[in-house]
Amino acid sequence: MSSFEPVNRPSLSPGECPCLILNADYQPLSYFPLSLWSWQDAVKAVFLDRVNIVGNYERTVRSTSFEMPIPSVVALKDYVNQDRSPAFTRFNLFLRDGFECVYCGSPDELTFDHVIPRRMGGRTSWTNIAAACSDCNLRKGGRLPKNMGMVPRVKPYRPTMRQLQAQGRKFPPNYLHESWLDYLYWDVELEA
Ligand SMILES: [Zn+2]
Repeated sequence: MSSFEPVNRPSLSPGECPCLILNADYQPLSYFPLSLWSWQDAVKAVFLDRVNIVGNYERTVRSTSFEMPIPSVVALKDYVNQDRSPAFTRFNLFLRDGFECVYCGSPDELTFDHVIPRRMGGRTSWTNIAAACSDCNLRKGGRLPKNMGMVPRVKPYRPTMRQLQAQGRKFPPNYLHESWLDYLYWDVELEA
């Protein structure tokens, strides 16, 4: 394909006009981090026929032969399976626990806590690692939480993609284009 250029000046920087990516069921591919493409990637996907355009920016781009609005929301034509197991990563673990210490709720200086300490055979796994602030982690040391009067708010568990998606929805991005709102929060209960 030929390359596209922004029609109006000033020219667009690569980070401007990001495009929200929906799965084929019109749910965001990811809430947190929000699934976004650069406008260049979005335009490319349109031309490769991989997406349906759902919403547009007012700005347009053009190549030598063609002009089009920059897509603000696109939906993948092929459904991406969301039932796979999430990777056991630092980010996903903190996301599962809502970026808060499971003991005191503090969002500051998060670390990993082995709920059953390693020296007692505790594994580094979804079911034994919890987000803990450094104070709580230090206080607990290599002991069991119950011996320290500390109770995790949630017992560590292996989350599904859907559970992580639900957690991610609690962290709205800094930038939201108005055309995204219908797709980000369309099934959230309305407050009276
Ligand atoms: Zn804490």
